[in-house]
Amino acid sequence: MNGPDTLPPLRAVIAAHQLSARKTLGQNFLLDLNLTAKIARQAGDLRAADVLEIGPGPGGLTRALLAEGARHVVAVERDKRCLAPLAEIAAAWPGRLTVLEGDALTLDAQPHLTPPVHIVANLPYNVGTELLIRWLTPPAWPPFWQSLTLMFQREVADRIVAPPGSKTYGRLSLLAAWRTTPRIAMTLPPSAFTPPPKVRSAVVLFERLETPRFPAEAKVLERVVAQAFGQRRKMLRAALKPLSPDIEAVLREAGIPPTARAEEIGLEAFCRLAEVLRRGVSSGS
Ligand code: SAM
Repeated sequence: MNGPDTLPPLRAVIAAHQLSARKTLGQNFLLDLNLTAKIARQAGDLRAADVLEIGPGPGGLTRALLAEGARHVVAVERDKRCLAPLAEIAAAWPGRLTVLEGDALTLDAQPHLTPPVHIVANLPYNVGTELLIRWLTPPAWPPFWQSLTLMFQREVADRIVAPPGSKTYGRLSLLAAWRTTPRIAMTLPPSAFTPPPKVRSAVVLFERLETPRFPAEAKVLERVVAQAFGQRRKMLRAALKPLSPDIEAVLREAGIPPTARAEEIGLEAFCRLAEVLRRGVSSGS
């Protein structure tokens, strides 16, 4: 019998396949089965859902997702060395794990997924923010996924859930709050990982809203907040100048004082601003 109980412990897998962690691939592995199970459970009942996992590595979290009953896991991994241990996991849960070799930034896993889909990942830190922004800003909403359960550096997680006015409030907080309800579900010390990273980590759970909190075009909103917080100490009339030849009129039409700074502006006002920029300033303003 080739069942899950016959799978070797993760440390033995790492030794057997010589999976020395590579910094360039953001490899910090989770080997504690209690932790991987706890992360897998954050996404809720997965028995009638597909899970997209990015960066399964030796497969600790992958095993937990399957053990928790995920209907089907699609795992995207860039490191060829991990494919053999992942194939062993696929054999232990026949028909329930599809491993796609490639770069999550360029590979389209969607054709392999059947809704409802949850995304669960101990992300490589070097691509985590980029993937998050992409998952939050498709042109159409709702997206292909129901929830995101993602590991970040604690400092990035704090930025994601930061309220307006706080020092860490910024692009990530706005884009997350616009279309999801994000919350920190777990925090983990460096010692939870092998090898331990320098910083603490946190799992953030994002549950999608069926409709964004305020109307705006994702591309425009993303550009506005990136520009506004790229120079967060500047007044908006200066920080946003590259976006319009008459940015003061645009800001006024959106009901935002041109002398305000990005961190003083809430989500609703940023969405209004994105809408004015998309339409162009109305005549007479
Ligand atoms: N999920 C495993 C765990 O929890 O132990 C490994 C997590 S490790 C932080 C990140 C994983 O993402 C590594 O296995 C790494 O090879 C993989 N990875 C890095 N960049 C990637 C990319 N662009 N696309 C897909 N996988 C990537």
